[in-house]
Amino acid sequence: MKKIVLLHICCGICASSVIERLRADGFEVVGFFYNPNIYPSEEYQRRLQVVRNVSQYLNLQLLEGEYDHNRWLLLTNGMDREPEGGIRCEVCFQMRLKETWKTACELPHMPYFTTTLSVSPHKNALVINRIGREIDDKSFLVYDFKKQDGFKKAMEFSRQHSLYRQGYCGCEYSKQV
Ligand code: SF4
Repeated sequence: MKKIVLLHICCGICASSVIERLRADGFEVVGFFYNPNIYPSEEYQRRLQVVRNVSQYLNLQLLEGEYDHNRWLLLTNGMDREPEGGIRCEVCFQMRLKETWKTACELPHMPYFTTTLSVSPHKNALVINRIGREIDDKSFLVYDFKKQDGFKKAMEFSRQHSLYRQGYCGCEYSKQV
């Protein structure tokens, strides 16, 4: 099977070291920016622009998903008081990973999918990998991208290219913390 992977990208900075790691592991990578969790829409546009810039720097083909924040709000209804890392985040990961998997299934010759999410020191790779495997055990690539200095390398990349660094995870609830 051809080693090509659809990579869910949470933000351009995180994507930088992940793309390089996957390429070093022999994968051809296509990016997928799908993050309806981000609030407000101005912040979404800002992060999207960073991903577009990073894609140019790294010669990455980038697909852009729909920004449907209302759907995200419906799925996380009643979870506003959940702490970061709690059940709301699991629902949020699942929504984004499921859409990535669906998109990969619709594309010709896209046998694998995975996500940049585990590069963040604030994100639990065990939870992310469990959700990915529950969606499709055969096509989800299990990684903990913060290993091998993944986060440090992403920060170095952002400094080199003077990229915008967000101050909160994404949703309105994480913005209030
Ligand atoms: S804190 Fe981050 S991962 Fe958790 S629900 Fe909000 S945007 Fe999603």
